[in-house]
Amino acid sequence: MSATALEPQVLVAGGGPVGCLFAARLAQAVGPGLAIAVVDRGPLPPVGGPFDPRVVALNEASRRLLAECGLWDRVADQATPYRRMEVWDGEGTGHIAFDCREWDRPDLGHILGVAPLVEAARRRLAELGVVLVESAIVAAERSRPGGPLQLVLADGRRLTAPLVVGAEGARSLVRQACGVGLVERDTGQDAVVCAALVERPHGGAARQWFTRSGPLAFLPVTRPGGDPRAVAVVWSLARPEAERLAALDEAAFRRRLTAASESTLGAVTEVGPRLQSPLCQRHAERYWASGAALIGDAAHTLHPLAGQGVNLGLADAAALAEVLARGVARGLPVDHPSLLARYERRRRADNLLMLAAMEAFQHLFGSRAPALVVARNWGLGLVDRLPLLKGALVRRALGV
Ligand SMILES: Cc1cc2nc3c(=O)[nH]c(=O)nc-3n(C[C@H](O)[C@H](O)[C@H](O)COP(=O)(O)OP(=O)(O)OC[C@H]3O[C@@H](n4cnc5c(N)ncnc54)[C@H](O)[C@@H]3O)c2cc1C
Repeated sequence: MSATALEPQVLVAGGGPVGCLFAARLAQAVGPGLAIAVVDRGPLPPVGGPFDPRVVALNEASRRLLAECGLWDRVADQATPYRRMEVWDGEGTGHIAFDCREWDRPDLGHILGVAPLVEAARRRLAELGVVLVESAIVAAERSRPGGPLQLVLADGRRLTAPLVVGAEGARSLVRQACGVGLVERDTGQDAVVCAALVERPHGGAARQWFTRSGPLAFLPVTRPGGDPRAVAVVWSLARPEAERLAALDEAAFRRRLTAASESTLGAVTEVGPRLQSPLCQRHAERYWASGAALIGDAAHTLHPLAGQGVNLGLADAAALAEVLARGVARGLPVDHPSLLARYERRRRADNLLMLAAMEAFQHLFGSRAPALVVARNWGLGLVDRLPLLKGALVRRALGV
């Protein structure tokens, strides 16, 4: 299929982790009979420093999905398994630890860079016959009310398809063109993200401190060369505090990180450039409209404190691909409303539950009210001693 005569039946706006996995899964399930194209503005812009801090935490369900799409083997050597998860309440003595050995598992999940994941996924798309169009989408519109959606590209082309899937992240133009509203809550926080080196090896543990300023995570990363002292830092802070931190010189910022992480891994010895992004929880009022569906961050964004964003998006991608493949096998058109409504039914409750849980967590751990500080310290200790409840939490996080 040449790019000039592109007439896909499914057009995916956004070739991030979720858009790529959706296209790969659908192409695999339906075969070459269904023309699929993905539009993305191009590779992720590079970030300097010890390594790229843009990482995601993949749970077991997401890892399996990658394996089924023929992707896991290509990225496994760049993924860092985490076998332990430790959480501290920085305002007290509360502490909880999850160790994969307690659950008879080899790991609790994997930390993987977004760039290697997307790069491998795009190569897989080419093998599956999915066309990747590299151009920015400048607008999404309908030429007439109720007509098909068109994507207007920066290179002047207009692309359309019976089904356009919005997978272009939080600022989805497809969602806006469909007039789908958002339930939106600004958390009042920004995330400060960077790469860092610490004194002591991370030991394959993901760590999180609920500090006075906000949750701070050190996610274990294996740098090329195998240095086990590399961590990806995600610190969610009240916006003015995030701005102050972002403006600190490197030495002062390292000292703040060392103090907030209670020197658990010794001093922070090196940090890369800091990326800052506002944290909003958003949930689309619908996941579909005539000739369009929304997946991943285009449908929902949530606080990164549980590292579940990409896992929810990949579950959307798998569900939509499966529903469409079954519909096509029954002779239904890919944009049949019954299929799109079924996709929404499959995913909405799960996503809503996670969004609500993140909101409750943020409220509980964001509070300095003495009663809440006591309650959460007591709660963390209690959950740590209740294997059944802990098991339920672990199964939920693993997605199995
Ligand atoms: C600070 C922070 C930390 C996070 N940490 C974690 C974590 O530890 N674990 C986890 O699971 N999740 C985490 N997340 C969430 C996770 O990054 C997202 O949920 C995930 O990236 C969503 O994938 P997506 O493919 O839906 O969207 P995106 O990753 O946003 O991808 C969208 C794609 O669309 C393309 N695109 C967008 N607009 C256009 C346009 N106009 N024209 C052309 N192309 C376009 C982009 O180039 C991109 O490739 C974090 C998020 C933040 C903000």
